[in-house]
Amino acid sequence: MNKYISDLCSFLDSSPVNFWAVETTRRRLEAAGFSALDMRHNWQIVPGGKYYITKNGSAIFAFVAGTAAPGEGGFHLVAAHSDSPGFRIKPHCEMLCDGGVVKLNTEVYGGPILYTWFDRPLSIAGRVMLRSDNPLEPACRLLRIERPLLVIPDLAIHFNRAVNDGVKLSKQKDMLPVLALGCDDAAGLVRATVAAELGVEAEEILDYDLSLYITAPAQTTGLNGELICSGRLDDLSMVHAGLTALLENADKPSEHTRVLAIFDNEETGSGTKQGAASPVLEHILRRITMALGGSETDYMRAVAQSFMISADNAHGFHPNYGEKYDPTNHPALGAGPCIKVNANCKYMTDADSAAVFARICEIAGVPCQYFVNHSDVAGGSTLGNILTSQIPLRGVDMGAPLWAMHSACETASTADHVATIKAFSTFFGM
Ligand code: ZN
Repeated sequence: MNKYISDLCSFLDSSPVNFWAVETTRRRLEAAGFSALDMRHNWQIVPGGKYYITKNGSAIFAFVAGTAAPGEGGFHLVAAHSDSPGFRIKPHCEMLCDGGVVKLNTEVYGGPILYTWFDRPLSIAGRVMLRSDNPLEPACRLLRIERPLLVIPDLAIHFNRAVNDGVKLSKQKDMLPVLALGCDDAAGLVRATVAAELGVEAEEILDYDLSLYITAPAQTTGLNGELICSGRLDDLSMVHAGLTALLENADKPSEHTRVLAIFDNEETGSGTKQGAASPVLEHILRRITMALGGSETDYMRAVAQSFMISADNAHGFHPNYGEKYDPTNHPALGAGPCIKVNANCKYMTDADSAAVFARICEIAGVPCQYFVNHSDVAGGSTLGNILTSQIPLRGVDMGAPLWAMHSACETASTADHVATIKAFSTFFGM
């Protein structure tokens, strides 16, 4: 298997939810000599230095300071997101049912394809907040239960003969996972399980952000291994591509300050302190400029000469549903990363930024293609245009094409992933 693809599989497997995607990224940055900066402190940074900042434990921003000050060299950015659609565990989540069956009360996060979560072994991952001496600073522990713990069982076809004609699913009734059998009392079962896993007393747990995840690992498929199937390819495949490209170039000097920006909560509209609609990246870019001796004017000069690649997956042409796609711009899996274009500015791409990305791909020696919506089909939005409301950056929205976006198991092309890394690496190597 190609080294980038086996590395992508291990990245996906070690990143079951947003907090773990950030932790996996953080560990790789640390291993490559990046040092942590804290937003609460003053920063001491030097040209050529490698740094990162986390926000809420679910967003991460890494940069290599340019040999030129930002006012002279500008920023080269790749942005992507850490979150994926799925299910969050509610407080007071245990529900004891007839026969001692315990199911969990969950809430849907973002827009998953609900039925793809049926009948698969699931487990729990996220973060747990523990009692500490300072009420304003609870201790935080990441949790990932590796063994399968849950399943959302579908209804037998004998109870719904029309199931293959399409079923309307209730998020509150149909999608609740089963945790255990034979229980008399369910209250506190999740807390006790989490406490045992972390090796703490249940009373220490103040709260949690826990989600379900699918325990099946990422796998390649296709006659020649040309496809990869995994949960969370949107957008962790782009996170992996951006991170890999940054690490490949981090020790090569560049006058540009290279930035990898991984936001949270893209799937719910980016409207949190760690999301792309907040000023978090703007604060970071401004502080990098100032910490390297620049002025407010230098920051604005830096923004004016920067370029951002906003990387979020595109919809690849599906052989069973050709009618859903634009007649002349339907990207094929395996034919390279896609420039995403929308006349109503749902994407930040324009002819200028598309031209830049097309040239980057040309120099990288990889193909690139266009994604445009069928004019009667409303498309999604992504990070790029949301970010530009905070920072007037020049940039392009792009992404490798996927099938079954927001399925519990999405499918992409291995060749496209390698091509995307090469394009990002060329960009960061400039
Ligand atoms: Zn996405």
